[in-house]
Amino acid sequence: MDKMVQGKNLILVVDMYGCPNRCRHCWLGHMPNRKMEDSADEWIFNYFKPYFENITYYSWLREPDFCDDYRERWTKDIQLSRGIMPQRFELGSFWRIVRDRSYVKFLKEVGVKRVQLTFFGLEETTDRYVGRKGAFKELLQATYILIKNEIAPRWQAFINEGNKEEIVQLLPLIEELNLYDRCAEFGVPFSFFVHAGSCDGENRKLYGIRINKQDIPKAIIPYFLHYDKVKTEREWCELLKEEPKSVMYHNEKDIVLNISNCFDVYFNFTHMTPNWKIGNLKEDKREELIRRIIDEDTQALKLAGKISIGELVRKYGDFQSDKAFEVGDYKSYLLNRYIDGQ
Ligand code: SF4
Repeated sequence: MDKMVQGKNLILVVDMYGCPNRCRHCWLGHMPNRKMEDSADEWIFNYFKPYFENITYYSWLREPDFCDDYRERWTKDIQLSRGIMPQRFELGSFWRIVRDRSYVKFLKEVGVKRVQLTFFGLEETTDRYVGRKGAFKELLQATYILIKNEIAPRWQAFINEGNKEEIVQLLPLIEELNLYDRCAEFGVPFSFFVHAGSCDGENRKLYGIRINKQDIPKAIIPYFLHYDKVKTEREWCELLKEEPKSVMYHNEKDIVLNISNCFDVYFNFTHMTPNWKIGNLKEDKREELIRRIIDEDTQALKLAGKISIGELVRKYGDFQSDKAFEVGDYKSYLLNRYIDGQ
């Protein structure tokens, strides 16, 4: 028991099955799908068991329930967890909703009240951004199935310079499909919001077409997430150019570990690239890996501490850019520019 880390909860989020999609905004970054061996869950749990009193286990890191035995899987996640049980949040797999009619019943049974569905525009664009033909139609079908089962669909849309007009066209589509009234009939709220997403993972590759603040269509502004907190890159550059602090990521009571299908471990700070890796469960010494977790000792965090936000702005900020950012996303973008160049 002397090894026990006091005052911290551990949340293990493991990519045991992969994801049916390859979204172009995916903050995690694209990884090959590889089913981990069935015993990996217990092995990973036991790895951390001597060190943490409370451990919550999730068998999915990407889209949930991408395994046929999702019911048993969920039960196993609960059985494995100790102290704090896993939650469902607003997550569900639209891929599975349209392929397996009993899946929506399962979502209801486990208390899912709302499922988020992601659009990138109309059919062709959404299919292209999700990386799968048929995705848009499936999203619409999933919307109906959820409503009929009294689960609220929450549509989110990612906007950029390339798809901004199509995002506007989602508004008449919502009207045409009568989604607010349909939902009301089944006693659930319909909601829709738009944002530009963070600028890490795959979405960072879309920096070139990131939406300019003044190009956000007027009709979309009421739906734009935290619009009052969004500024242009040039405004952030001016505001932050003398900032002496560094970009800091830090775990409070909960330590969330994202674990890839080859046992690489990351904090859930920004994306999963080599500099952000804490280590590998199979390759590194366990005591050392636990130390790195507790001390938050990764190459990326070391680098982050060596440079101020002001320096990042002066090195990588574009004082002419009108690209729209919330401050946290902009700082991550700048920091990753620096880290990737090391
Ligand atoms: S955003 Fe979610 S659904 Fe899309 S590729 Fe990433 S993990 Fe899969």
